[in-house]
This record gives sequence, structure tokens and C-alpha cells, in this order.
Amino acid sequence: MENVLKPMDAEQLRENAHKMVDFIADYYKNIESFPVLSQVQPGYLRKLLPDSAPNHPEQFEDVLNDIQAKILPGVTHWQSPDYFAYFPSNSSTAGFLGEMLSAGLNIVGFSWVTSPAATELEVIVLDWLAKLLKLPEDFLSLGQGGGVIQGTASEAVLVVLLAARDKFLRRYGKNSLAKLVAYASNQAHASLQKACQIAGIHAENCRFLETDSSTNYALSPDILQEAISKDIAAGLIPFFLSATVGTTSSTAVDPLFELGKIAKGNNIWFHIDAAYAGSACICPEYRHYIDGVETADSFNMNAHKWFLTNFDCSVLWVKDRSALIQSLSTNPEYLRNKASQGNMVVDYKDWQIPLGRRFRSLKLWMVLRLYGLENLQCYIRSHIEYAKHFEELVSLDQRFEIVAPRTFSLVCFRLISPHNDDDFCNKLNHDLLDAVNSTGKIFLSHTVLSGKYILRFVVGTPLTEERHVNAAWKVLHDEATKLLGRGSAN
Ligand code: PLP
Repeated sequence: MENVLKPMDAEQLRENAHKMVDFIADYYKNIESFPVLSQVQPGYLRKLLPDSAPNHPEQFEDVLNDIQAKILPGVTHWQSPDYFAYFPSNSSTAGFLGEMLSAGLNIVGFSWVTSPAATELEVIVLDWLAKLLKLPEDFLSLGQGGGVIQGTASEAVLVVLLAARDKFLRRYGKNSLAKLVAYASNQAHASLQKACQIAGIHAENCRFLETDSSTNYALSPDILQEAISKDIAAGLIPFFLSATVGTTSSTAVDPLFELGKIAKGNNIWFHIDAAYAGSACICPEYRHYIDGVETADSFNMNAHKWFLTNFDCSVLWVKDRSALIQSLSTNPEYLRNKASQGNMVVDYKDWQIPLGRRFRSLKLWMVLRLYGLENLQCYIRSHIEYAKHFEELVSLDQRFEIVAPRTFSLVCFRLISPHNDDDFCNKLNHDLLDAVNSTGKIFLSHTVLSGKYILRFVVGTPLTEERHVNAAWKVLHDEATKLLGRGSAN
């Protein structure tokens, strides 16, 4: 019984955690040897694991062996340098260490009193990051605003949508819910649609406004103004606008200043979703993409996407924290305490959906301190340079075309059909993506813009170097040659 793991024993923790760290370090050392996209079939794991949990303790080594043999084959390696799909979800040594400490302390910081350092560090670190992004002072904690770490951008947009909804219901009466209208472009992330569903905003009152290549898929202020005027004329109440800086499909940037002006003119809550591209705005040369943020009520970016902070860490700033609190606070007897009752502190439970919350600011603090602004800027710039390089490689091959302008580190491209036939071309690119991802050597994703099936190549993982981009291009080039050599899409 000597080897039996106790629920918590400092020496056992030391011994086993060292082994786990070795396991993870070896994983990173060998990460290029795995197929980037897991190649298992649905249900593969049920065949490999017992039907029920063990009655008696097992050995840690046996579990580690199972992870190696049974779990890792079912992992898609988001940290692989050959991962170019979706937007990235960064891991870093600093982010990992912060996450480890957070798991180690395992506090639940819903109110200030439940761990003062968790709340106070979050307030300070989000002020730091707001300053790096040169956000207007209204978003900092010293005035009426402030920042909060949400789990995801989906939660961020939900909480501000709820705050906006309730502000309008207080003004127009609770029976006006059916009249509230939300606006965004048809390139906005689906998280906004989900937030509307949860918030009770009628589907027919969600305006996902048309965009096309003439604005590079950015929302046109004229189209927004026209939609708002039409809704007002119909007796509806415009209440929420979400603009995106770096859309998911093609990193389009909505014109913040013009949209913000319209939002202000109509008293609409203006939210900015910069989930992926917000990170780039710490570089002076990319900061202009969020010019106009001063007109917004809320601003969100995912530090867990492209800012070296391990998942999850979505950073939301608001100008008027009381709007969030009015919407989301509860005050049950069992949570009452002197600091909260005296209004002396921030209680983040009132800025989010769940009660419980992790000590997530630790990892962001570690990232900021252990890398520093200059390194973080170099990190972003290097990815944008690699993406430019990839774009050049694609442009030099006449069988391919670039489909949307590259703004950050995403390249949207596709094979051109030899037959000038749209359906055939879409199928060809679909088949190319399948063929490339089935090699296991690289992983890309796709989107559809104006009916065109397009491949997305995003540079964003910390281990990616130029040689990986060159190797990825070779895979794409060779698979395209094979596919075109067969004369038709399968
Ligand atoms: N907004 C944009 C622009 C995104 O690209 C994404 C995801 O990629 C999201 C929101 C949703 O992010 P999350 O998974 O943090 O909810």
C-alpha cells in the first residue's frame, strides 16, 4: 500500500508532478513526430478503455503509459509548429507555469474576500494590458470601467449583451424584449448568435448584415445605418452592435470609428470583438486597427489565442462596470461579508455568468513579466512575417489565388479551377484540404466567402518557424499536383 496516492501529500505531489512535467516536456520535444490532426475514428477510445472505473487504486506509471498509448493518438496537436488551422490557442512556458500555480493554489475567487490577491492581481494586470493596447482611460479600473477575465470570447459577448439588454429593459419596460434588435456583419463570430439565443433576443431581430469583397468583408456603415433606420421606423429598438477586428473567416476589420459614431447617435451599446487580432495591437504599427475603440462600450480579446497565455483567458474591458453588475449580481446571505457590503472591493462574481472562478490572472501576469512587451511584439511580428512569406509562395504558383487581403497572420487562398466552374472549384479545394490534412504533416481549415470554398492558413503557434511554413507549402504544392494530375476532383 506504500505507493498508494493520497488525496494530497506534498512529497507525493513533488515526485509525481516532476514526472508529469518530464512527460509534458518530452511531449513538446517530440511534438513534430505526431500527426497534427488526430487520425482516429469516432468511438476509438471506448474500445481501448474498460467499461467502468477501477475499484482499487492504480499506479501513476500505468496511467501515464495509457496516456501515451491511448490518449495521445486521439489528440489534435494545437501546439504543433505544423498547426495552421483555425486561430491558434497559445501555450508558453510562462503561461504554463502560471496555469500550474493556479491549479496548485486552486482557490475560487468569486468575491474579493475569497482570495484578495486573485481579484486585485486581475484588476492590476488588466490595467497593464489595457495600457499596452493604449485603450482609452475609461476602460481602466480607476474610473467607472475596468477589465475582467472571462473564459471565452463567447462569454464576454454574452455578458455585455445581457448588460445592454437590461439597460434597455430598464428604460423601455420589461415587455419591450421582443422589440430589441442586435446588429453585426454576417462575418461576426457565431458566439454572438448564441449570446442572442441565450439572452432571449428573437432570431428575427438579429441583423447579420451583408458584406462582400467590395469592403473586404467589413461591415459598411451605410448598410448599418439603413438597417437601423428601417427598424426604428418599424417601431423596433436597436440596442446592440458588435464590430469585429479580425473576423474568423478572413480577418476583416470593421470600420470602428464610423460604426461607433452610428452606435452613439442611436444610443446603442457598442461592443468590439478582437478575439484573435487584438493581440497584434500591442505593436505600434498595428494599433491603428483599433482606432475608434474610444467610441466603444466594451472591448474583448483572447489572450489565450495569440498572446502566449494558456487557455482559457479572454480579456474583456467595459467603460461602465455598473451596467454589468446591475445585470449579473446576486447577493445571497451566505456570501455576505464586510468588504463587499462596504462597497470597498471588486467582486468578480458580478461580472460573469458562473459564481466560481479560477486564479487566471496569474498566467497573464507571468506572460507579461517573463516575456515583456518587446518580446511579445517580436512574437506577433514574426508570425505576420511568416504569413507574408507564405502568401508570397502561394502568389508565385499560378495554379493558386489569394482570395482576401492578408491583414494579420491569416492567408486565405485556393486552387483555381482549370475549368472555370465554381462548383468544381469548390470541390477541388475541399478535396485538397482533405488530402493535405490526411497526411498528418500539417493541419489547415477552411471557410466559405461569397460562395467560394477557401483554405485558411494561420501562423500562430509559438514553435512555428519559417522552415515549417516552407514545409507546409511543399505539402500543399505536392498534394495539389497530385489532385490536378488526376484531372478532376474526386
Ligand atoms: N470571436 C472571434 C472573432 C473568433 O475568431 C472566435 C473564435 O475563434 C470567437 C469570437 C469565439 O472565441 P471563444 O472560443 O473564446 O468563445
